[in-house]
Amino acid sequence: MTTELEIGLYIFMLAGFLGYHLITRVPPLLHTPLMSATNAIAGISLVGSLVVAGADYGPVSTILGFIAVTCSSTNVVGGFLITDRMLKMFKKSDEEAALQSRAQVGRRILVASAILVACLIAFLYWSPQTGEVNGSTVQGKLPTEVLKYSYIVSAALFILGMKGLSSPKYARRGMHAAAFGMLMAVVGTLFHPEIVNYKWIIVGFIIGSIVGGTMGLRIPMTAVPQRTALSHSLGALAACLVGVSEYFRHHGELSKVVMTPLGFEVVVGGLTFTGSLMAAAKLQGLLPGHPITYRGQNVFNLGLLGVIIASLIYLVVMPPAPTLFYVMVGLAFVFGLLLVIPIGAADMPVVIALLNSYGGLADASMGFVLMNKIQIITGSLDGTSGFLLSLLMCRAMNRSAVNVLFGAFGKIKKEEEGAAVEAKGSVRTIAPDELVALIDGIRSVIIVPGYGMAVAQAQYGVAELAKVLMKRGIDVKYAIHPVAGRMPGHMNVLLAEANVPYDQLYEMEQINPYFGGADMALVVGANDVTNPAAKYNKNSPLYGMPILEVEQAKSIVVLKRSLRPGFSGVENELYYNPKCMMLFGDAKESLNKLFAALKS
Ligand code: NAP
Repeated sequence: MTTELEIGLYIFMLAGFLGYHLITRVPPLLHTPLMSATNAIAGISLVGSLVVAGADYGPVSTILGFIAVTCSSTNVVGGFLITDRMLKMFKKSDEEAALQSRAQVGRRILVASAILVACLIAFLYWSPQTGEVNGSTVQGKLPTEVLKYSYIVSAALFILGMKGLSSPKYARRGMHAAAFGMLMAVVGTLFHPEIVNYKWIIVGFIIGSIVGGTMGLRIPMTAVPQRTALSHSLGALAACLVGVSEYFRHHGELSKVVMTPLGFEVVVGGLTFTGSLMAAAKLQGLLPGHPITYRGQNVFNLGLLGVIIASLIYLVVMPPAPTLFYVMVGLAFVFGLLLVIPIGAADMPVVIALLNSYGGLADASMGFVLMNKIQIITGSLDGTSGFLLSLLMCRAMNRSAVNVLFGAFGKIKKEEEGAAVEAKGSVRTIAPDELVALIDGIRSVIIVPGYGMAVAQAQYGVAELAKVLMKRGIDVKYAIHPVAGRMPGHMNVLLAEANVPYDQLYEMEQINPYFGGADMALVVGANDVTNPAAKYNKNSPLYGMPILEVEQAKSIVVLKRSLRPGFSGVENELYYNPKCMMLFGDAKESLNKLFAALKS
């Protein structure tokens, strides 16, 4: 074990530990921006890709490096842009003007620092000095110093960026710092002494920036999960290709110390690439969203994983076995597909968070192969973040990660559906004009948004209604369940998009005590997160999942199209509660009808 490796391992562990502490402080409100932010930071694979694309390692390495640069820059540019778009939306009721002036100051500081760094780098570049990188002495410029210091500053800025996500107030500033850190890492790498040709670097970067920029700026907020998945797949592909290039370049003549992380990098990168592509396609509706299962599926998948691990161990012991190496990479691609096929589209957010974590590990492995500490740090941060986020989601859904990965939940749900729909009493309905009469008599309302609000794109109508109610002197609060919708923080992002100040949004633990005193709970497209059976029915798949205690409110109005169940496939007995009234129809249309009734 070399000293370098030891240092790398210490850095990896410490960064993971730090990541754990930073990420546990991120409020659920910011979980979706966290996903895209870590995704952008995971684009650090760009650093390794730049070297492979620009060095004189032969045509195969250059081509692989060029593809890796394109993929990683798509990640970086798209990830930072969409995170900034999201964070811009989060504001407090009285904060808009202050935020704008703060953002202007922030922008000026950013531009000034960029100019300063550019001047410093130019000065260093033209200083006639000697340096040493990876054992080679380089004359005429100061690559060692530029690389070393730019990486140290970038690492600090990435950590600051993650720290900023602990509050919506500082999140944007934090992400600007992280983006600047990425810029420094990339610019510093351009001074790498082994880079001799910038042609393919520039072309790859331009293509990646155009694709990533378009995705980051154009994609609607509802499509954030599939964009994140696509982005993971590109980052993972970059890591995998850099690993393949390193193996090819050395004809497999690698030490065990290098072969171990390299094998891990190509396997994890490969399976994350195809797994994330599959997840994106399911979420986008390009592939059927339901779980695809067959007899013996789990056994087959575990068998395949066993073959991959056995090949990896063989290669660590006897690295020069190119055929086995490429077969193992191919099998990793296939395994990624097979891993995601049996998982339903609704479980994809957990899978995406998990794949995010795998992508981070592939990046960290690349860092070990290239002995690049910034990649070890960011890979470890990313790995921890994704893992923790997937665990938080599973816990909030009262399911285990094993159940999500191997349980084919949507399939079981469908089989149980028939038995579940069974009337338990009568259901009351309400018309929009009757709801207006009800509203006339209330002083407080708690709005409970859910997945149906996202489907109907009713967040603007909900925000408008809240304003109308507040003008009438009614106290309005929003109740946000941690897994309402289909991605962590889904409701927060949608409501922020509709300009709802985040200080009106209450997390489940905060809002539950208020339901008893509320005159009305207005449920807009939420279902599972309000199901009282989760509290006492041990036979219910929802049993144990903490819910919003909507049934405590004095009256309950539910906007949805039918009595159909939600994600879990479990019938909601709330609808049979005598206090509950159903306003059937698409949530957006129902709100429009309600506005018309309110006007008349
Ligand atoms: P839900 O239980 O899935 O229910 C959503 C409801 O929206 C449906 O019952 C549907 O009823 C209604 N709906 C659909 N389109 C609508 C429209 N156009 N207008 C009005 N209503 C519409 O949603 P939820 O209460 O938000 O709960 C989320 C579920 O997803 C939980 O079970 C959670 O565990 C799971 N999940 C969440 C995450 C996450 O990260 N947030 C990740 C994975 C899984 P109709 O068809 O009758 O209209």
